[in-house]
Amino acid sequence: METPNTEAVNFIEAIINKDNEEGTYGKRVHTRFPPEPNGYLHIGHAKSICLNFGLGESYQGLTNLRFDDTNPVKEDVEYVNSIEADVKWLGFDWADREYFASDYFDQMYEYAKELIKKGRAYVDDQTPEEIKNSRGDFSTPGTNSPYRDRSVEENLRLFEEMKEGKYKDGEKVLRAKIDMASPNIVMRDPVLYRILHADHHRTGSKWCIYPMYDYAHPVEDAIERITHSVCTLEFEVHRPLYNWVLEEWPDTEKPKQIEFARLNVTNMVMSKRKLRQLVEKNLVSGWDDPRMPTISGLRRRGYTPEAIRDFCQRIGVAKADSVVDIALLEFCIREDLKMKAPRQMAVIKPVKVVITNYPEGQTEMVTIENNPENEAMGTREVPFGREIYIEQDDFMEVPVKKFFRMTPGKEVRLKGAYIVMCHEVIKNEDGSIKEIHCTYDPESRSGSGCQRKVKGTLHWVEATTAVDMEIRLYDYLLKADDEETADKDFLEQLNPDSLTICQGKGEPAFKTTQVGDHFQFLRQGYFVTDTDSTADHIVMNRIVGLRDSWAKAQKKG
Ligand code: ATP
Ligand code: MG
Repeated sequence: METPNTEAVNFIEAIINKDNEEGTYGKRVHTRFPPEPNGYLHIGHAKSICLNFGLGESYQGLTNLRFDDTNPVKEDVEYVNSIEADVKWLGFDWADREYFASDYFDQMYEYAKELIKKGRAYVDDQTPEEIKNSRGDFSTPGTNSPYRDRSVEENLRLFEEMKEGKYKDGEKVLRAKIDMASPNIVMRDPVLYRILHADHHRTGSKWCIYPMYDYAHPVEDAIERITHSVCTLEFEVHRPLYNWVLEEWPDTEKPKQIEFARLNVTNMVMSKRKLRQLVEKNLVSGWDDPRMPTISGLRRRGYTPEAIRDFCQRIGVAKADSVVDIALLEFCIREDLKMKAPRQMAVIKPVKVVITNYPEGQTEMVTIENNPENEAMGTREVPFGREIYIEQDDFMEVPVKKFFRMTPGKEVRLKGAYIVMCHEVIKNEDGSIKEIHCTYDPESRSGSGCQRKVKGTLHWVEATTAVDMEIRLYDYLLKADDEETADKDFLEQLNPDSLTICQGKGEPAFKTTQVGDHFQFLRQGYFVTDTDSTADHIVMNRIVGLRDSWAKAQKKG
């Protein structure tokens, strides 16, 4: 990692550098990534992970993984496990600093009693409805609760009774005593604790009162002695409350909340609540569906940790909201796989080609580079024979202008093998193409010194040794973003054609592929072996296409 002091620094690094100069935290830098275990992490969280762990690394500081598990109703260990796996997979290490907010419930409770004793918190008997209605709005101040001036003794007793389960959900709350006329509505006596008779996935039935986020989060940060508490922009108006909560905290080194803009990406929905809807309504196969923007979905889709970290680096950290083009994410995975992934031949939508002047029953091996951009990856032998498959789209009986692939009467090269020319098209009864008949030029073998130039080179797969592969082609889960639809149900934006399954053919090298192997299918794009794949049934996911100059040229017309 580069030292932020010598590189251009982002605004968060500038704050940290200033703190270090002024000795605010004795040069300590201690950040945390604080997910709520109520869903799987998405690419937005990856930004926060890279940022927080990145700061820890570049300042030789520390970063905690902390589960913000203060709402027992929505949280589950399944999510805890997936979050741990995702953070590790991204390449970050919290060492032994894995914490749970629920581990601090006792401390939070004790500190709340301190606030009561200082006259800074009170038990309110108003209903949630009444509390809401007395809060006022932007133009009207709120009104004080009739219970606001209870004595410390009474407040302590009632709060303890709340904890002991004497009251039903919603019957009482603990509120901060700040200012019902504050111009910042967040500061109008916010609720600190509510009653919730629900079992927690870690503390079981020990508690029936649970702290609110705005109270819990600063206390968690303070207990862990976090220095810079980085969060997303929507918490900016909560910052005065964050600081208020910690006013009575005994440590002089109080954490500092810093807000940055959350990541939005075109064609992606970025909220756990919405992602959960997709899963629960079976609109996707699960949290790790390769179309999902979850980290587990991206992983299954074939994204690498390197590509995601590179993406997070490139988008940077800013204070203004923006939407990042998904094309940047795709660029990052192409960049990462360009030199690493072997380039092999697979035909996604096959059509049979018979080379009529090639001896029946004969095959020969041709040599093909594994990655022309990375010689170190060497070469492999690929069988060639009389019957091969090519891509349906690589043939046009009546070619359009600038079509340099296979067409009757025109020569085209088969990658690593021979120049062939189509002389006949055999049709099925319905008029579709059954077979394409070609002849080959035995003198034109690649590497034989044949100088003849042909315009197109096609990938192909020899028929008798071809490996069957199920190939899953993905398109965006959401149709292009449209400001107008922002308020509409996002489900209306779902792309009905986000998955196309093809029965393809691969060269023999695919036979031994393992889950998670990356490839470039020559001329097609980057692919990964899916978790559904077995030795008998190979399944490939398209991660991203290559930029297709043909499609572009066609669009330009
Ligand atoms: P969601 O709205 O998707 O449910 P969340 O903010 O509720 O997300 P948390 O588990 O509370 O999810 O988030 C953990 C951390 O990740 C927080 O610090 C949060 O600010 C950050 N985070 C969440 N979404 C994004 C995003 N899109 N971009 C950057 N950081 C994010
Ligand atoms: Mg949240």
